[in-house]
Amino acid sequence: MLNQNISSAKLRKIIWVLFAVLLSSSTLFGHGNEKHVMGTVTAITAGSISVETTAHQVQTVQITSGTKFVRSGNPSSISELKVGDRVVIHAKPSGDKLDAMEVKSGAEPKNGMSKK
Ligand SMILES: [Zn+2]
Repeated sequence: MLNQNISSAKLRKIIWVLFAVLLSSSTLFGHGNEKHVMGTVTAITAGSISVETTAHQVQTVQITSGTKFVRSGNPSSISELKVGDRVVIHAKPSGDKLDAMEVKSGAEPKNGMSKK
């Protein structure tokens, strides 16, 4: 009984350590000079998305052939994106513009404590 309690506590700790390592490594490797644009979509064209950020500034991000779209955690496309959607765009500075790497929209777990 006691042993079982200890091992499940250890297991939980190991899972959390792995989770933390995973999170920090994706931060290290995925976000070098990236800029994150978070806000509400105000305009969509074939080549760009305009987002009004929480600071009420409109930021336009270029769509490239490499831009990935993710909606509620699933692969998506620009055709599923609508004006008014809340998005998080991971973008890379390109000259004085921003190239979107990944555009995330739709519901996400709110507190990062998802039981999955
Ligand atoms: Zn990013």
